Amino acid sequence: MIDPQRAFARLVLQHELGPRFVGSPGHGRAQELLRGWLAAADVAGEQVFVERFFDREVTCRNLWGEFAGDQPGRLLLGSHYDTRPWADLDPDEARRREAVPGANDGGSGVALLCELAVELKERRNRPTVQVVLFDAEDWHEIDGKEVSLGARHFAAELAGPERPDAVIVVDMVGGRDLMLDVDVNCQAHDPSYRLTLGLFQLGHALALPACSLKKAHPYKWIGCDHTPFMAAGIPTALLIDLDYPEWHTTADRPAACAAESLGQMGSLLDAFLFAPAPAFEQRVA
Ligand SMILES: [Zn+2]
Repeated sequence: MIDPQRAFARLVLQHELGPRFVGSPGHGRAQELLRGWLAAADVAGEQVFVERFFDREVTCRNLWGEFAGDQPGRLLLGSHYDTRPWADLDPDEARRREAVPGANDGGSGVALLCELAVELKERRNRPTVQVVLFDAEDWHEIDGKEVSLGARHFAAELAGPERPDAVIVVDMVGGRDLMLDVDVNCQAHDPSYRLTLGLFQLGHALALPACSLKKAHPYKWIGCDHTPFMAAGIPTALLIDLDYPEWHTTADRPAACAAESLGQMGSLLDAFLFAPAPAFEQRVA
């Protein structure tokens, strides 16, 4: 099991680096921090690509670590580590060109996966897991950019034995009173639908409040880092709570987050990963 407090401490550490949007000083500091967190992997690497942001060329990096398992199957767990350059949903109009601090949006998924990585190192009775921390996610509708630039690059270059049997993307999983949404796009791809449903069923069986679908409108059309993998025909699920009041505001800080939310997602991924061998294959079949 992951330690929710330690996971939360990782969220706080990222927040302390300042905003981590592509090209910012915090972005470079975050890469340094995350390389250290992934250093315990059996194999670690980076996918480098260059993008232009506001007429400036910036080097972007997807950071990954692979943790071999002794069960069949290969799972990609992904989350973005960059944060949004503009807080364009801030209630105070004067602050909408400030950067988002990104405790939850950018910080939470990374905190969860890097804490899980400690467990992946120790426990091998599971499929092989590649943890991928995507860059350049949070630019949609800024400078004419689309969402998830890093994940698009990563999905485009997946081939051969590196192609996962399933992908689970986590984003904004650290907010208080976490309540996950469902990306209804998964209905158009049966394997992704089954994987998504399987995760919610698992969460339900574990009595996780975050998986109870008890909010007014949990079914949404969501474009995020999971989208390019689903489009590539890989069984893919997204774990996200979009109803985070501080989303894309200057208040996306640790005070709006909770260790307990990260703990719930840790329990869910744990139950998914360490199920007896046939279970993983059935879920992604
Ligand atoms: Zn965002």
